[in-house]
Amino acid sequence: MHLTHLACTACGQTHDATVPQNLSSCCSKPLYPAYDLAAAACTLTKASLPGRRADMWRYREVLPVRHEADIVTLGEGFTPLLPAPRLAARLGLAQLAIKDESQNPTQSFKARGMATAVSMAKQFGLRKLAVPSAGNAGGALAAYAARAGLEAHIFMPADTPKANIIECRELGAHVTLINGLITDCGAEIARRKQAEGWFDVSTLKEPYRVEGKKTLGYELAEQLDWQLPDAIIYPTGGGTGLVGMWKAFEEMERLGWIDARRPKMFSVQAEGCQPIVRAFQTQATQAAEHVGAHTRASGLRVPKAVADFIMLQVLRDSCGGAIAVPDAEMLADVREVGAAEGLFVAPEGAACYSALRRLLATGAIARDERVVLFNTGAGVKYLECFE
Ligand SMILES: *Cc1c(COP(=O)(O)O)cnc(C)c1O
Ligand SMILES: [Zn+2]
Repeated sequence: MHLTHLACTACGQTHDATVPQNLSSCCSKPLYPAYDLAAAACTLTKASLPGRRADMWRYREVLPVRHEADIVTLGEGFTPLLPAPRLAARLGLAQLAIKDESQNPTQSFKARGMATAVSMAKQFGLRKLAVPSAGNAGGALAAYAARAGLEAHIFMPADTPKANIIECRELGAHVTLINGLITDCGAEIARRKQAEGWFDVSTLKEPYRVEGKKTLGYELAEQLDWQLPDAIIYPTGGGTGLVGMWKAFEEMERLGWIDARRPKMFSVQAEGCQPIVRAFQTQATQAAEHVGAHTRASGLRVPKAVADFIMLQVLRDSCGGAIAVPDAEMLADVREVGAAEGLFVAPEGAACYSALRRLLATGAIARDERVVLFNTGAGVKYLECFE
């Protein structure tokens, strides 16, 4: 609502927020929306929140959509932050909670980003949206495009979980399966988009998906009564969830809502696709492509991310880290989490629990620290993994 401009995440140069944009024209890096936070603070106060709508649009002043009528919504966000006392006891932790993003429309946190991206596309009068997806992003785009009356063109690796493919088709999207990885799907869109008139809504190649994802950070703070946890463990592919939350923390500090303390941010990846983990371990500022990427956790099958440098910066600035987990362990932990707490989590969500066990063993997280795990999706979309 109080969007003023877009800023290049590499050099800070200002870009026009009144026209559709992809990567910055100066550096070919992601663009971040910037707001007049002083204006936002006139109406967006902590005290104003309890009476507001129970979805992510409760933070409307710091979301980009100008007119109420352009908001495309299916009720995304404001998901529960559930205490996980049995898992906490098993690990000897004082406090553990799981933010359950499987309760979003289309059963993953991708709904948040697509709600803002599709709303902005509608505001700009765009008609045809395209996305490469390893699973849940496609389903979310299909749903929000249908809701907005726009076309969705979705490119998925042929080995994407069946539920994601069927979901996209039944939501009326044009689905193309590619023999390759999500990066190959992205390349196919890049090749054809000009001729087809598609607008590319790939993760962080368009400025507004991250805005929906950042509401995770606002919600976490609100649900914890403005005391952020000591550590956050997040399954990262493209990295929007992780960097989005960090952006929210910075905005909230400028709003005067929180102080300068930050949670330690931990990125979890799969052993078969761990570009960020490798880059973090070698103190690199960018991540090399993970050649031959493979994992059943399709949301983590991202061999090269355009926001790698932002993720690595966040992990370092927060004194957090990056850790890889084998597929067998995360799949076994789906049942561990499910049987203990009643949540049928996605393999990506279970990977956070696998990572927590390891981070406690190495001392990167202490047993008296308050920890939040993110279940980013629903196990029911990955039935092939459990046959
Ligand atoms: C997309 C996805 C991720 C990774 O999210 P990024 O924002 O791309 O890092 C994690 N888990 C699930 C279930 C996903 O669908
Ligand atoms: Zn730049």
